[in-house]
Amino acid sequence: MTRDSRYDVLFEPVKIGPVTARNRFYQVPHCTGLGWLRPRMVAALRGMKAEGGWGVVCTEYCSIHPASDDLPHPYASLWDQGDIRAHSLMTEQVHEHGSLAGAELWVGGSRSTNLFSNEVAMDVANMPNAIGIPYQARAMDKSDIRELRRWHRNAALRARDAGFDIVYVYATHHYLLAHFLSAQTNSRSDEYGGSLENRVRLVRELIEETRDAVGDRCAVAVRFAADDSIGEDGQPVVGERRDMLEMLAELPDLWDINIQDYSREMGTSRFVNEASLEAYMCWVKSVTSKPVVTVGRFTSPDTMVSQVKRGIVDFIGAARPSIADPFLPNKIEQGRIDEIRECIGCNICYTGDSTGTPIRCTQNPTISEEWRRGWHPEKIAARGSDSSVLVIGGGPAGLEATRALGRRGYHVMLAEAEHSLGGRINRESELPGLGEWARVRNYRVHEIRNMPNVDVYFDNRMDTEHVLAVEANHIVIATGASWLADGRGLYNQTPLDELGPPQQVFTPDDIMAGRLPGGPTLIYDDDHYYLGNVIAELLRRKNIPVTLVTPETMVSAWSGKTGEQGRVQRRMLELGVDIVTSHALKAFDGQAAEIECTYSGNRRRIEAAAVLSVTLRAPNDSLYHELQQAIDSGGEYRPDSVTRIGDCLTPTIIAGAVFSGHRYARELDTEVDPDNRMKYDRIFYDDV
Ligand code: ADP
Ligand code: SF4
Repeated sequence: MTRDSRYDVLFEPVKIGPVTARNRFYQVPHCTGLGWLRPRMVAALRGMKAEGGWGVVCTEYCSIHPASDDLPHPYASLWDQGDIRAHSLMTEQVHEHGSLAGAELWVGGSRSTNLFSNEVAMDVANMPNAIGIPYQARAMDKSDIRELRRWHRNAALRARDAGFDIVYVYATHHYLLAHFLSAQTNSRSDEYGGSLENRVRLVRELIEETRDAVGDRCAVAVRFAADDSIGEDGQPVVGERRDMLEMLAELPDLWDINIQDYSREMGTSRFVNEASLEAYMCWVKSVTSKPVVTVGRFTSPDTMVSQVKRGIVDFIGAARPSIADPFLPNKIEQGRIDEIRECIGCNICYTGDSTGTPIRCTQNPTISEEWRRGWHPEKIAARGSDSSVLVIGGGPAGLEATRALGRRGYHVMLAEAEHSLGGRINRESELPGLGEWARVRNYRVHEIRNMPNVDVYFDNRMDTEHVLAVEANHIVIATGASWLADGRGLYNQTPLDELGPPQQVFTPDDIMAGRLPGGPTLIYDDDHYYLGNVIAELLRRKNIPVTLVTPETMVSAWSGKTGEQGRVQRRMLELGVDIVTSHALKAFDGQAAEIECTYSGNRRRIEAAAVLSVTLRAPNDSLYHELQQAIDSGGEYRPDSVTRIGDCLTPTIIAGAVFSGHRYARELDTEVDPDNRMKYDRIFYDDV
């Protein structure tokens, strides 16, 4: 297939100073949870983007010096020869596919932890540590600024030596350079503070010095915010930013533009739509002749073309769409748009940075596994035998197993109890704000539909007898999990004795099946992710009074890691949800619930007509156990294997279920060393 000529503009080469990108697809700097700790994993991950057609592939934030250290968040670094060697792995793989590699040089200032390096953090002024650790940042004096410029220059030289084609001056995201630019944070009285020209001075010097150091071979990019402060959501406050950009307009070779509100720039699909930065971006290209890139969770090629043709951007910047589908550009180029695995905007990928662990993706189970497990997002080994596989359950785990087994060429029979495929995706994507999550189902159903070796049996609730009658070689149980209604969870380690009457006690499964409470409802959230608060939103929109009780100190604590906790809590407050934190449900008698303070143990009663427990799920694994029993008790037919996957094995997030299904399909008929299931990446040292 060939590409639609409407998309030709996306494949035009674009000159960036001394280098040229082969097309307009630009993977902007994004975290991987790998950083300097896992050089081979990160190199393979970035190389895969280049193979998939991204014309530019950048690092994550890359520290120039130990004074800028962010562990436990795994940043990249360019401190020494070992780092040069590590990054060379990445640049070689990116160059192999004709793409450009970019390094985002980073100076954290008061946002760096320095807990690893034990260096003193410095910033434009004496200020608190911005992420809340009890170490202040000290004000830089002039000699510190000279030192910083030297560090930055040397890191730029190391970036060049590592083979990078684009070197960034990173002047946004509330890091040190952003603090120099801002009138709010820059209180200096020397030539680096006060007037606009003075506040811009350090950024100007770094651009000039980077160009001087490496500009003959590398382009200089500047990452810069298009707005001055966080105003009303979606309404830019441009303030001085236009004047600043005009002052620097022609100095770098490329402008990488973002905004002050990270929860919008990186917003989940529940709160933020595709291309949502356009209102912030619309003036930028009118003040510079240099190419401009921004992000917007772009997955639609029509939106991309429209952005370029209307002069909003020159490059289609992407982090998440390139994670969900590293082959997105190639698929557009090859006219395979319906095969794009679209990002769902859930931000599970972002949790890797917060937790200090390798990036995961709900849509792309191969991310981070390129090197250590040898998984390619588009290629998979041919089947290892003529075996047939019966998959029971068409939720995300069963669908992904079926899709990947089908791609390997196995004869797969997928039996689903319901009239449609999707499992929990069907139910959850109907909840407020989660519509884009249906893409998890849609991508897989579309792929399966085109596979002649896959048969799908709808309305087929399988029992042991049915399963055995199929006589498949391998049986995969992907029957999901069910929410418990007994209040047991992290806080209450045993079921609550006094919780009733049953018709007034609900679980998320009840709500998603359309069984709603008839009056004021207490939602007890000991799950701490999205379901508790999304259901609160659903009930409030039906005018049902809601009290949200959680043992945590904030609503939906885990969604801090997906970058949406602030928006979630604000949404709850706007909807009039009563929030009670640091309390656990202890009893309910149909008229009132008894809750307990997690610190003092003090109890109080809250009137409620219903209680909804969002605490714990139990695997739907009775079929698995019955099958095992039937097989053990003899009979002619014995399958080669019976395996549980997804929530049936252990209830988890959707990304976990997809991964589980994918892993099963990859490993069938292969040798996996049970003691060493994956390669273990380690860093390089300066002296090796
Ligand atoms: P997961 O997240 O692990 O994929 P889900 O709960 O999303 O789990 O999906 C489980 C799917 O299995 C649902 O679509 C459900 O209808 C289906 N299912 C459950 N039990 C059976 C069964 N006995 N036979 C066929 N399908 C089943
Ligand atoms: Fe998109 Fe979610 Fe994957 Fe991140 S984890 S790239 S938001 S689908």
